[in-house]
Amino acid sequence: MFKKILIANRGEIARRIIRTCKKLGIATVAIYSEADEKSPFVLEADEAFLLGPPPVGESYLKQERILEILKESAADAVHPGYGLLSENADFVNSVNNLGVTFIGPSTEVMDQMGDKSAARAFALSADVPVVPGSEGAVADEEAAVKFAEEFGYPILVKAAAGGGGIGMKVATKEKKLRKAVAECQRRGQSAFGDPTIYLERYVENPRHIEIQVFGDSEGNAVHLYERECSVQRRHQKVIEETPSPFLDRFGDLRQRMCDAAVRLVKKSNYTNAGTIEFIVSPTGEFFFIEMNTRLQVEHAITEETTGFDLVEWQIRVAYGEQIPATQEQIQPCGHAIECRVYCEDPENHFFPKPGMIGTYVEPKGEGIRVDSGVKADFEVVSYYDPMIAKVVTHGEDRNAAIKKMLNALNDFKIGGLVNNIAMHERVLKEEDFLAGDYDTGWLEALYKK
Ligand code: ADP
Repeated sequence: MFKKILIANRGEIARRIIRTCKKLGIATVAIYSEADEKSPFVLEADEAFLLGPPPVGESYLKQERILEILKESAADAVHPGYGLLSENADFVNSVNNLGVTFIGPSTEVMDQMGDKSAARAFALSADVPVVPGSEGAVADEEAAVKFAEEFGYPILVKAAAGGGGIGMKVATKEKKLRKAVAECQRRGQSAFGDPTIYLERYVENPRHIEIQVFGDSEGNAVHLYERECSVQRRHQKVIEETPSPFLDRFGDLRQRMCDAAVRLVKKSNYTNAGTIEFIVSPTGEFFFIEMNTRLQVEHAITEETTGFDLVEWQIRVAYGEQIPATQEQIQPCGHAIECRVYCEDPENHFFPKPGMIGTYVEPKGEGIRVDSGVKADFEVVSYYDPMIAKVVTHGEDRNAAIKKMLNALNDFKIGGLVNNIAMHERVLKEEDFLAGDYDTGWLEALYKK
């Protein structure tokens, strides 16, 4: 087994990875920016190295410095967490060139799936349905308008390199489409260094439902069922649950989506944890939108219902072992929900409001799990994601998990800064949510009322 893993990330996910490494007896190396000097993950790792000033370009994305630390620490593997360098094939190549294992898939698959337009084409080749849209990239405004005239509105313009809801705009008519094309090209360039865009039919009132998958180097592939991620703002998830209350309404739909996801894993010879994201129309049609070739923020709900440690699986598979369970052994039990607690203001367009945390007391209890990267008297800085913690509850059924979540949120004491706990409490009591009747636009609509 690996002896020492460098964690190329920060915050809650760095702590999450440290936890599993400790369990497996693997030493850990943290890397941190000046802003994170007092962060719990830095204190919990066996070794810690300073990267540089707070901006990610001078710290968590600064590859030369990370590679220097990798050599100095003599770690034999790198876990990238999510975001940051987790889907950066250049970084993976540099890590591999040092004779170090990157805990993730091959760079070939990473590149293929990193370009969302190329990923669509690949999904089609594996007989996985995609949202109807442009075949490949769309060159400019004129080409987009021509496509829309034949195809009809509404159209969603997407940056091929996009992620985190950035570089995505809906257009309902020509004038808006022209603006959307220019804006997504600009956002693609500024946020991801790539102005390429493509077009998709804008599916109205969809659900976002994703399948957790795993592949290993012996060609085994399994799924660990779905996560329902339709409670979103700014095209980003805030509450996730499994199983999806929506899929139960459509006979074998769950099975068909899981089968499609496994087909994609097999066809791409994928190794590592991955997520196949689908949107599902109100009538139960499902379409591939993208594959994330890494662990997801919301992996914890799958861990709670399946009982497996997905970080451990990632490490074992990267070491060359087989996936630790067969498809038959993956039998989810009960219901799990995750509420992402952010310092942001739901009453003011969900704008992030980083600041100083004063009091900080996490809820505890059976079936309650909190993954966080902060502590009392700690500053959440504006350079990074404003997530404070993920609260996860697991109950024997959906009602039990919701009830537990309401208790946990009530017990969660965060002093000193604006946060979205009251929003979570409100959502969990809404009639629509309780009935499982929500789509990706539901939360924002609720806050416009
Ligand atoms: P990102 O990589 O930026 O997260 P995704 O392609 O995964 O972008 O889409 C994020 C969200 O945007 C989805 O969860 C869904 O809410 C919405 N979305 C994406 N594609 C479509 C589509 N074709 N029609 C309607 N909504 C969509």
